[in-house]
Amino acid sequence: MDVCVKKIMTKDYLTKSNLPASDFVINPYVGCPHACKYCYASFMKRFTKHVESWGSFVDIKECKNDINVSKVKGKSVFLSSVTDCYNPFEEQYKVTRGILEGVISRRFYSI
Ligand code: SF4
Repeated sequence: MDVCVKKIMTKDYLTKSNLPASDFVINPYVGCPHACKYCYASFMKRFTKHVESWGSFVDIKECKNDINVSKVKGKSVFLSSVTDCYNPFEEQYKVTRGILEGVISRRFYSI
């Protein structure tokens, strides 16, 4: 299946989360090329302008701003709640890698 791939700008990789297990989420991509039949994240399509079906588009997020460390200090951050952060496009675009390198270099994580 062909996948529509676009780059989009975002102001912040962080999004406030209503999920019980996390304060914030980071989704490096919008959409997901796997098109799993059981996907719980397909509702995300309505927040995009895509006409393609879920599983047929991936937006590559770009962000010029660093993650705001003070905003997430002591908070939980869920990486990839509505996409696969290691989908096949990660090999080329390395969005997830860039985010994780930023996190590591700024040492604001705890395990
Ligand atoms: S977000 Fe997860 S469940 Fe949904 S299509 Fe991608 S890999 Fe499958």
